[in-house]
Amino acid sequence: MRYSGFRILQQALTGQKGWTPAWRNPDPQPHYDYIIVGGGGHGLATAYYLAKQFRQSRIAVLEKGWIGGGNVGRNTTIIRSNYLLDGNEPFYEFSLKLWEGLEQDFNYNAMVSQRGILNLFHSDAQRDAYIRRGNAMRLHGADAELLDRDQIRRDYPFLDFDNARFPIKGGLAQRRGGTVRHDAVAWGYARGADQRGVDIIQNCAVTGLRIEDGRCTGVDTTRGFIGAGKVGVAVAGNSSRVMAMAGMRLPIESHVLQAFVSEGLKPVLPGVITFGAGHFYCSQSDKGGLVFGGDIDGYNSYAQRGNLPVIEDVAEGGMALFPGLGRVRLLRAWGGVMDMSMDGSPIIDRTPVDGLYLNGGWCYGGFKATPASGWCFAHLLATDQPHPTVTAYRLDRFARGLMIDEKGVGAQPNLH
Ligand SMILES: Cc1cc2nc3c(=O)[nH]c(=O)nc-3n(C[C@H](O)[C@H](O)[C@H](O)COP(=O)(O)OP(=O)(O)OC[C@H]3O[C@@H](n4cnc5c(N)ncnc54)[C@H](O)[C@@H]3O)c2cc1C
Repeated sequence: MRYSGFRILQQALTGQKGWTPAWRNPDPQPHYDYIIVGGGGHGLATAYYLAKQFRQSRIAVLEKGWIGGGNVGRNTTIIRSNYLLDGNEPFYEFSLKLWEGLEQDFNYNAMVSQRGILNLFHSDAQRDAYIRRGNAMRLHGADAELLDRDQIRRDYPFLDFDNARFPIKGGLAQRRGGTVRHDAVAWGYARGADQRGVDIIQNCAVTGLRIEDGRCTGVDTTRGFIGAGKVGVAVAGNSSRVMAMAGMRLPIESHVLQAFVSEGLKPVLPGVITFGAGHFYCSQSDKGGLVFGGDIDGYNSYAQRGNLPVIEDVAEGGMALFPGLGRVRLLRAWGGVMDMSMDGSPIIDRTPVDGLYLNGGWCYGGFKATPASGWCFAHLLATDQPHPTVTAYRLDRFARGLMIDEKGVGAQPNLH
């Protein structure tokens, strides 16, 4: 069924009785050409592009819970391509371009909203760093604009300009950045993949990777063994646990990141803002809630919930920038498990096991990467060659000294 304005009108006039399920609920087949482990944004996007772009068939996505129950439905929905390094910027710009055409491509309203992102700076040295980053972005064809304090004050008059411990000196804006309704991304890709014959199998946890003569031949699951030509793992915060089933130890630590949403307010925040003197970022959802977050929790965990000191820390960062936040009631807080890599950049690569491929290490920036990650992982699975924008995302780069240290903090996952 194609979604359109006409379809909504037709259904409204016929008692809403003609809607069909957005995807099937099939039983697993004994064998697939491609098994994607993980029904998050990246796994579903991979299956979608494998079927649509690379014309592959006999594909299954195996999800241990329900699709959208992981980080794809837990993030703060920000998309952007404001990266500095050559290894990263072309990939994230490719992703932003895919976001721009995504809803038409998969015929689903994901509420892509290019309301802009603004990174504030609070010192001369930070301004120099942001100018450098803006120039790098423009060299790669992305948009970047340096705003002074008065320009920012016009759009965000409620920020603390006059009495702040960290005075706002200006900001780096990317007007094409913004937000996307996160779980709709999972649903849109799931529906698009299902329409192209992909089996999306929920409540099916992978419990083992079957390896014979150095080759991955399938997966053991809570619903039995399923054979596969190729297995692509895209399980985000569970990457180290799943790859341990193949005897691999990854350069990844799992940490919790929390997010927060306030009661609904009238429109106050036109775009996404980030504080440059602490870790705090905020946007306003279409329902009016302020959606914000900050640092990871700082200890390793696979639990999808966080601790109270980080709530206090995030609130402190918010209040330093935006004192009116103290008058707003918090509605909800939740956590997701981050696959923090040692340099803060992701991995899309083959593994030493034939037929086993890894997509992981997204840290807390993988939502914006979803379309390009899916496309590039599908490219790798279908052709056995890396897509040109992900040639730096190698698994062995840590051993070879070819890190992509975007933040310049070294092997410190808690600081990325
Ligand atoms: C609070 C928070 C805020 C964030 N904010 C942003 C942001 O603003 N912008 C941004 O770009 N990124 C953000 N991120 C990061 C982003 O959400 C993730 O990097 C990205 O969603 C990870 O990819 P995914 O969608 O495929 O992950 P997930 O949705 O977590 O998908 C992985 C799936 O694998 C499944 N799985 C795990 N183990 C198994 C198994 N053994 N068998 C079968 N299935 C399994 C899980 O159940 C899960 O559904 C944020 C994350 C959090 C938690």
